[in-house]
Amino acid sequence: MRPRIAMAVHGGAWDIPRRVRAAHRRGCLTALDAGLETLSSGGSTLDAVEAAIVVLENDITFDAGRGSFLNAAGYVELDAGIMDGFDLKSGAVAAVTAIPNPIRLARAVLETENSLIVGPGAALFADEAAIETCDPDWLIVDRERRRWNELKANPPTAREFFGVVGGTVGAVALDYDGNLAAGTSTGGLPFKPVGRVGDSPIVGAGVYAANNLAGVSVTGWGEAFVRLVWAYRAAALVTAEVDPAAACLRALDLLEPLSARGGIIMIDRFGRPAAAHNSPTMAYAYRTADSRAVAAP
Ligand code: ASP
Repeated sequence: MRPRIAMAVHGGAWDIPRRVRAAHRRGCLTALDAGLETLSSGGSTLDAVEAAIVVLENDITFDAGRGSFLNAAGYVELDAGIMDGFDLKSGAVAAVTAIPNPIRLARAVLETENSLIVGPGAALFADEAAIETCDPDWLIVDRERRRWNELKANPPTAREFFGVVGGTVGAVALDYDGNLAAGTSTGGLPFKPVGRVGDSPIVGAGVYAANNLAGVSVTGWGEAFVRLVWAYRAAALVTAEVDPAAACLRALDLLEPLSARGGIIMIDRFGRPAAAHNSPTMAYAYRTADSRAVAAP
């Protein structure tokens, strides 16, 4: 099988209310187009993943970039990670507060010798790398301010959130040369402790790409995915006999011991895309160069 262009994106796995399902689906399809257009105009798979995730970060429907959940102190802290399956280089940022598109900053980290830059250091690095910054308040939308006020009156446990809200975003791309890349970007959990970082920027947990295995981005209960090294283990399940659709289902079985809920998108080195979730719904879209788009919810 020769590799072919393929692209997959997601916008979170949870019980997405009917009234916002169309917005989730539309957002994913728009991001998918942005990624495919980048690939077909000669961009790399890293460019395609970045372009697709920027679209999702810019859409306030999702828990990434502007419109993200607020932390317990009432402001937005963002995490993002990106990985190149060709040379296994990765870049990530965590707990950044004044960056509209953290995936761009993660990509800039990938271009350095480092793999993860957090907090105030990430702000300094954004200046150096000439990545756009913003007023931290600009990231806050009314919907999330209202949610925060309700949560403050009634603080939930972290576990109570999973399956209730979501909206982390991610993308995976494959080019004709068989190069894979994957990325994940999130505002994390609503009312999370200040400084809490989940799986999304962590290589092997929330994002993974290796040209000889697969590209993966996941969403759901981050603490469980860190403990399970979920994204890497999912990618490693793909073989000639086990295609990505089967590997994604087997990956969900890995969540059982921790009773974790979540969703996954994957593309293997042959360009076979797949998605699966054990949450009630998941927002995703994928397409190869020679097929129609598959999208949900
Ligand atoms: N995995 C993300 C986190 O734990 C949340 C999500 O995917 O909804 O930060």
